[in-house]
Amino acid sequence: RATLVDDEEGGVLFVSAPPSSSSSGFGHSSLERQRQRLPVFKYRDAILYLVENHATTIIVGETGSGKTTQIPQYLKEAGWAEGGRVVACTQPRRLAVQSVASRVAEEMGVKIGEEVGYTIRFEDQTNPSVTVIKFLTDGVLIREMMDDPLLTKYSVIMVDEAHERSLSTDMLLGLLKKIQRRRPELRIIISSATIEAKSMSTFFQARKKDLLHAAEDCVPSHLPAILSVEGKGYTVEIHYVEEPVPDYLQAAVHTVLSINDKEPAGDILVFLTGQDDIDAAVKLLREDTQDDRRRTSGLLVLPLYSGLSRDDQGLVFAPTPKGKRKVVISTNIAETSLTLEGVVYVVDSGFSKQRFYNPMAIEEDGFGERGGRRRGKEEEKEEKRRNHTYSQQHTMGDGEISDIESLVVTPISKASARQRAGRAGRIRPGKCFRLYTEEYFLKEMPTEGIPEMQRSNLVSCVIQLKALGIDNILGFDWLASPPPEAMVRALEVLYSLGILDEDAKLTSPIGYQVAEIPLDPMISKMILSACNFGCSEEIITIAAVLSVQSIWVSMWGAQKEFDEVKLHFAAAEILRKAIIAGFFANSCHLEEYSHNGLYKTVRSSEEVYIHPSSVLFRVNPKWVVYHSLVSTNKHYMRNVIAIDPSWLIEAAPHFYQLRAPNLAPC
Ligand code: ADP
Ligand code: MG
Repeated sequence: RATLVDDEEGGVLFVSAPPSSSSSGFGHSSLERQRQRLPVFKYRDAILYLVENHATTIIVGETGSGKTTQIPQYLKEAGWAEGGRVVACTQPRRLAVQSVASRVAEEMGVKIGEEVGYTIRFEDQTNPSVTVIKFLTDGVLIREMMDDPLLTKYSVIMVDEAHERSLSTDMLLGLLKKIQRRRPELRIIISSATIEAKSMSTFFQARKKDLLHAAEDCVPSHLPAILSVEGKGYTVEIHYVEEPVPDYLQAAVHTVLSINDKEPAGDILVFLTGQDDIDAAVKLLREDTQDDRRRTSGLLVLPLYSGLSRDDQGLVFAPTPKGKRKVVISTNIAETSLTLEGVVYVVDSGFSKQRFYNPMAIEEDGFGERGGRRRGKEEEKEEKRRNHTYSQQHTMGDGEISDIESLVVTPISKASARQRAGRAGRIRPGKCFRLYTEEYFLKEMPTEGIPEMQRSNLVSCVIQLKALGIDNILGFDWLASPPPEAMVRALEVLYSLGILDEDAKLTSPIGYQVAEIPLDPMISKMILSACNFGCSEEIITIAAVLSVQSIWVSMWGAQKEFDEVKLHFAAAEILRKAIIAGFFANSCHLEEYSHNGLYKTVRSSEEVYIHPSSVLFRVNPKWVVYHSLVSTNKHYMRNVIAIDPSWLIEAAPHFYQLRAPNLAPC
């Protein structure tokens, strides 16, 4: 039995020592042996005991200890998935959902989509009559509440990766706290790699009287329990650069080559920021492999980011072929969500891509003093050619948002840097090469990241809470309060789109219809308006295109044909009026004396430019509306249409007024 120490004063129950390992009647296949070797296995009984007896259990454990893949299986084995009940496990990232669900299905020897299933936005791999363990993004679980507000089919909901503090995770935790009051039999597990366990615990302390509905003998403790799973990570030697590096991508490539030259066998995990720089690094390393076989012979270079096909994901997890050294170049998804076996060396750029939102203006990039990724003219040209680079379209949880929000390359926190380094100590002592100075790490790197809630556009969040009947959004039980300006801005946008009325209630039918569509409300409004213009089919195609990173792939030497095909779309566009119905707030006008294509947003006079990948680049129409902004050295508008300013007044008379000679927001 676990030694349970009841710390009533702090309102928290700790497990101070692990119980002896459980004998659960497993056979001895190799997968089962692997399962039993995971650190979490020793805590199997303790976890089941705590979940039985506490409404909320908080489990903190190092990445790779088996939390995500094992705990749902333990719960199923203990009977929590019987009688039509389902065990749910949420993740902030969809790639992690797919990957862990496949792994658990494999361990259980079942087909994915049957007993073990997953749901991410636009993809449901479950079978309601047989699925008992379900992985899903936290955004999808929030959406399920629209049909089933108390999430009645779930017996246990495990909110995983809570330390990431994604916008959807924070929303979900607030909503689950409400549900828990109405469903005392529901069990919540909050799990993460690092967590401020006490503050999370304080947040989840239910009052005894809230649990009165339950029969006396099955009242779970109102005190959350905290269990810490000891990992068995090996030591990791940390190396810093002596001088700040001007370009982290080049530095990462050099470091990989130098590890391959000097260090004994072992896979390499490189942390860059997104698809653009990862693809560039993969290309450089693969080209280098061809040019200089001696230095790079034996390297197997693989990318890892959201949006990879299932086959490409499989390559990353497959055992490294004999005589090869795997180099996985990843976003921060490999920081805690996914564990790669075999990694001995980590290269940490010190950056990740994060959403930033400033309700009044666009954020500057986060490069600060220590350099970063330099982008020159040539490089922009190159990016124009590849055309799948900068994208504000971004998937975090399940909401794609594109008001004036930027995806910015941002310095990571010390907590992230430690997590990244830890990935090198999985199978034996490893090394982490940080592409920043020790002084920077000690003196300048922020200790913790900022919760996404506090740096996001809240439009989708507000509309979802409204649809769930939560009218007083500021009074909602937030883990950390969102900034009031962002909240006001979201209310304003929704009001101007006709989704909220003057009392900040959802309008009927538009508001309710928009809330049901799992897309950015501006896109949903555009789709609904298309009915009035008789162009629904075309607009749905446009909405689909806007919902993925980029459908355009160009080839060397085919630039002319490529531009011509795109121009075809630019010429189309009654479509434009439907687009404006959703995106009228993103209007810009060309500065009168501008020779370099400088535009200003009507809403806040921000300086912006048409992205070089647009067919309207250099055409510079006087008035334009854009879909999204991306920030590098300048702020670029992506997916731009030319408009007549009178259409703005037609579409949103309440938002615009004519102030000769310029249009200005009311
Ligand atoms: P945690 O959630 O504590 O970080 P996980 O449950 O994700 O740990 O991982 C436990 C083990 O399962 C790790 O050793 C990891 O390598 C392995 N694993 C997880 N997903 C996969 C996968 N898709 N393919 C192969 N191994 C996997
Ligand atoms: Mg996990």
